[in-house]
Amino acid sequence: MSDHREPLSTDPLAGLRQRIDQLDRDLLAQLAQRMQAVAGIGRLKREDRATPLRDDRRERELFEVWAREAATLGMSPYFAGRVLREILNWSRREQERQLEGPEQPALRPRLRVGYQGVPACYSDLTLTKIFATRDSAGLERIGFRDFRSVVDALEAGELSHALLPIENTIAGSINEVYDLLAERSISIVGEEAWPVEHCLLGLPGTRLEDLRAVRSHPVALQQCQRFLEGLVGVRTESWHDTAGAAQSIPVEAARHVGAIASEEAAQHYGLEVLRREISDQRENLTRFVLLARGPERLDPRQPAKTSLLLAVNHRPGALLECLKVLGDRGLNLTKLESRPVPRSPWEYLFYVDFEGSTDEGRVQDALDELRSHTSRLKVLGCYPRRVGEPELDLAALAGGVSAAPSSNGAANGAPAVTPAPAAKVCAVPKSTGPAKLVAQRPDGRRTTVRVGDVEVGAEAFVMMAGPCSVESRTQVHEAAAIVRAGGARVLRGGAFKPRTHPYAFQGLGFEGLDLLVEAGRAYELPVVTEVLRPEDVEPIARRAHMLQVGARNMQNFALLKALGTTDRPVLLKRGMSATIEELLCAAEYVLAGGNHRVILCERGIRTFETSTRSTLDVSAVPVLRERTHLPILVDPSHAAGVRHLVQPLALAAAAAGADGLIVEVHPDPAVALSDKEQALDAQDFERLMAALRPVVRALGRTL
Ligand code: PEP
Ligand code: MN
Repeated sequence: MSDHREPLSTDPLAGLRQRIDQLDRDLLAQLAQRMQAVAGIGRLKREDRATPLRDDRRERELFEVWAREAATLGMSPYFAGRVLREILNWSRREQERQLEGPEQPALRPRLRVGYQGVPACYSDLTLTKIFATRDSAGLERIGFRDFRSVVDALEAGELSHALLPIENTIAGSINEVYDLLAERSISIVGEEAWPVEHCLLGLPGTRLEDLRAVRSHPVALQQCQRFLEGLVGVRTESWHDTAGAAQSIPVEAARHVGAIASEEAAQHYGLEVLRREISDQRENLTRFVLLARGPERLDPRQPAKTSLLLAVNHRPGALLECLKVLGDRGLNLTKLESRPVPRSPWEYLFYVDFEGSTDEGRVQDALDELRSHTSRLKVLGCYPRRVGEPELDLAALAGGVSAAPSSNGAANGAPAVTPAPAAKVCAVPKSTGPAKLVAQRPDGRRTTVRVGDVEVGAEAFVMMAGPCSVESRTQVHEAAAIVRAGGARVLRGGAFKPRTHPYAFQGLGFEGLDLLVEAGRAYELPVVTEVLRPEDVEPIARRAHMLQVGARNMQNFALLKALGTTDRPVLLKRGMSATIEELLCAAEYVLAGGNHRVILCERGIRTFETSTRSTLDVSAVPVLRERTHLPILVDPSHAAGVRHLVQPLALAAAAAGADGLIVEVHPDPAVALSDKEQALDAQDFERLMAALRPVVRALGRTL
């Protein structure tokens, strides 16, 4: 850069400024060279996977050297430390970028990243930061009006990534984003924090006393309340986002209006910064998450964070048990957030972030154990840690005191940097067997699933009963009265019917569902009903206590995936031609989606035998008990197909070890609109219950 040197001016102020400009250029050139050397180290580490990514001892030495030399040069060691911290921060990122490898430009996926807001909003600025150290050639940014539309576009494949804010140090968690993470099939693949520095912006030449209004996002207005109170006679206007408020001012040529937004927004929209740092609180950070449709590869040496969503079993101390599972393995919790479960008062979903990667054995162990303490567990993502990195004590270094090397293992005093194993990359989470999540636990512990307030899989043998189809208000209320009086604990009833014949009664749909729920409420019974289509999962889950997947849909994988994202229990019936292994794989789909509340149901299979509608595979019950921890129900009605065989099959199922039964009961079977031959009436049901009691008792269970 020496060729750019200019003769110094004779005006002392201008002369000094020229000198500073020259020094800045030199500084920049030096920094660029330093980054090139860092990139070289990154490339070496890409080839040699035994070298750890971070060397904490070297970093500490650098801080000590800088502090010492700064002091010798008459400069504040603290200031030098701050500068070095930022340099090291970006050096680490550059090295991580190098780990990704030299991909062919043509092979690189196109980056289309969505965010909520308009250009130069805080999300957009953070996007620049997060992609500064990712391969971002041809990065395209697309602003959306709201969070939900961004996620819709991501799921639809219109975007490769989405960047959404998730929490702010002043305003707290952004609930809508947490809820989207629970509902949708998306993965967190990155995080980034942005220091929010609110400024007051106006058209160039505007004076504070000219202002009559200040507009911004309501949260920003609230964060600058004290400053705004000092502006006499100025009203505030809520805007959908901060940069949008800035954008509106030149458009309207609003000379008397100011906006609260970033300095970058001022530059972008040709505004002037009228006042800087107007937040009531100085430390105002927003944490963003980068989302993709699926997990992304991570080098095992990268310090990682894992985010989970879990619903704890409804038992005192259940959350504590979960946290203990993490604590016992030395996994450092960085965030715990709770959100109410929709429609289930006083039940909560928990969001847990901890330091560690799903590639580590201790994390995999923890996840396995957590599954037995939770009714729902979803790995939301595993990604490079950017927020909450342990920081060196600069003040201590500046005072010449070197921080004592920590004694936790690694020779270089590093806080448990994962030693690099073989050239392995992490994906979330790996399955070793065909159906791992449903598999029997090593200690044989069984899962119980709550349906409303009824526990299935525990000591009590659970009867579910009701009509094949909901036909009318009277019919379903009468059926509910019968089954309740007989001792059933759950009311069944089909509103959406999968009929073999296209002209047969197809069910009353949502109207039927409402009647079923109404009858369930009247007789204090939770209800189970069949769902046929993925798009109906959410609206049915809003009303019914449990969703049934019928035999004809056992391998409807889109439906199973949709059920994985709900928090309602699922009654999964075995397909008529499905093997037990296929049934378990179908259940695995639901569990892999994060929903652990699955009950399996044997309902008879197709064989060459025609004396019964299907052949009840009684042996499936003990086989399933060996292979899975999930509760097992039997449906003798659809297996028998005729009324008088329902009872003997029911007794066989109970004796074989089923956790309960689901049977069809109709107040007047002769006029039933579906499955009339197999429906029990009130007396049949009473007789069935009486016959079951001694069998169930002999097995040491209650009815
Ligand atoms: C039902 O339960 O009404 C039903 C249709 O059952 P399956 O799917 O077992 O035939
Ligand atoms: Mn039926």
